[in-house]
Amino acid sequence: MNEKIAINQPSCGDDVDTSALPVEEAMQRIEATIKAVQNTELVPIRNALGRTLADDVHSTMNVPRHTNSAMDGYAIAATDLSDDKSIQVRVVATALAGQAYQGNIKPGECVRIMTGAKMPHGTDTVIMQEHVALDGDMIRFNPGHKPGQNVRQAGEDLSIGQIAISAGKKLTPAELGLLASMGMAEIKVRRKLRVSFFSTGDELRSINEPLREGEIYDSNRYTLHGMLSRLQVDITDLGVIPDQPQAIRQAFLQASSNADVVITTGGVSVGEADYVKDIITEVGQVDFWKLAIKPGRPLAFGKINKATFFGLPGNPVAVMVTFYQFVQPTLRRIMGQTDISPFRFKVPCSSALKKKSGRVEYYRGILETDNQGQMTVRKAGMQGSGVLSTMSKANCFIVLPSDSNTIEPEQLVEVEPFEGLI
Ligand code: AMP
Ligand code: MG
Repeated sequence: MNEKIAINQPSCGDDVDTSALPVEEAMQRIEATIKAVQNTELVPIRNALGRTLADDVHSTMNVPRHTNSAMDGYAIAATDLSDDKSIQVRVVATALAGQAYQGNIKPGECVRIMTGAKMPHGTDTVIMQEHVALDGDMIRFNPGHKPGQNVRQAGEDLSIGQIAISAGKKLTPAELGLLASMGMAEIKVRRKLRVSFFSTGDELRSINEPLREGEIYDSNRYTLHGMLSRLQVDITDLGVIPDQPQAIRQAFLQASSNADVVITTGGVSVGEADYVKDIITEVGQVDFWKLAIKPGRPLAFGKINKATFFGLPGNPVAVMVTFYQFVQPTLRRIMGQTDISPFRFKVPCSSALKKKSGRVEYYRGILETDNQGQMTVRKAGMQGSGVLSTMSKANCFIVLPSDSNTIEPEQLVEVEPFEGLI
């Protein structure tokens, strides 16, 4: 008998899955589900780097505290300046940073002053030392100086009572300096998040173990460790869990017992040994598990006990893409951070990029400056979702929106740099 079995024919649309959730909707669903941690702790400012500021910080003093000189030179009264004649005044004292001159300056007099020194009474303007001729205790300078020049006003950086740093700010080196400039030794930040993760896969071995035929080293736990460490969270690494429902169930219960967020990699697609989604449905809830993106389409999001759950794909690049695009912003929200919008801008792309409409695609790119000084981006080599070496060579994501099609060379594309200064 010539029996026919119903099998879907392959088609060029294979890769675009119409049941996958659009990125914006996924982000909205994530935002609707999560809550920021409320507990806070007081930490020395050096330990506050990367943490989230709990309350607005009001400036307790003027910074700078007193009006001071921005230059090495001579402090005078602006009323002694002239628009058309060269001027001569007498040097009557010296003021150094930390050693103010307490006397009063009269018309026709000036004070030798160093950068950071408090402006003496009766002065409001500094003439740079390079612009004067010294003759005994007299100085002479040409016309054309502006009243108030080269002076830093008290409170021009921060004035008393003003909000210096807003609650929800991720603390960077600039804020550590700002806090120190107000004399603050400790600062209240939201508590650290607790994040547990494990890898799933019978083929996975940890480093330091011998590899048998068909086995590979687990790299995802190391990229995850790196990405999470930068976020200042407390990490629990539960190792590699085999593709056995009972072992995965057990790992979930252990991971969620004390964590704010549980992250797994592997086992979320539709293969024979992909148990993660089924088990999370049994012991928790799955909100979505397929996204209209490449790489990283199987991305599960849900809850287990009180913990937020992310089931990332197994492929190493898909793990990094989904982490940076979905997990990291979510963690930052749970940490209480307010400004989490990605930093993206458009540049011409010198490579052609294949693209299917109906999903967001994240290419690994190399941003560089061409010989005309223009910023351009090009594809960073092979783009397979397991090719971690090009993730290492790349310095940005090229983000191609859902409605775009194949990119021709010189077309503008949106990029998101991997590293920022702050
Ligand atoms: P899965 O989603 O479990 O089917 O995994 C997809 C692909 O990613 C397979 O080739 C796996 O061997 C690979 N993979 C899964 N987990 C890891 C891991 N932790 N480290 C490196 N490769 C992995
Ligand atoms: Mg697997």
